[in-house]
Amino acid sequence: MKFVKILTAVAFAVALSASLALAADKKAPAGKQAGCCAKAAKDGKTCDHACCVEAAKGNKNCEKCKGTNEEKKAK
Ligand SMILES: [Zn+2]
Ligand SMILES: [Zn+2]
Repeated sequence: MKFVKILTAVAFAVALSASLALAADKKAPAGKQAGCCAKAAKDGKTCDHACCVEAAKGNKNCEKCKGTNEEKKAK
């Protein structure tokens, strides 16, 4: 009987961490997109500013165009 309890606890823990990881993934976009990039994204495009393209390569928002890359520290 004890074994079943442990198994249930492990299964619960795995399910919990899996759902937590999923929630963390959804929160991924941190910071604010630059105005020009947000505008381009609205039209289904990507901003063609050289600085923004460069920032996007690093998966970041362009800080030159007033985007931010700050993560909300809510851990
Ligand atoms: Zn831009
Ligand atoms: Zn830019």
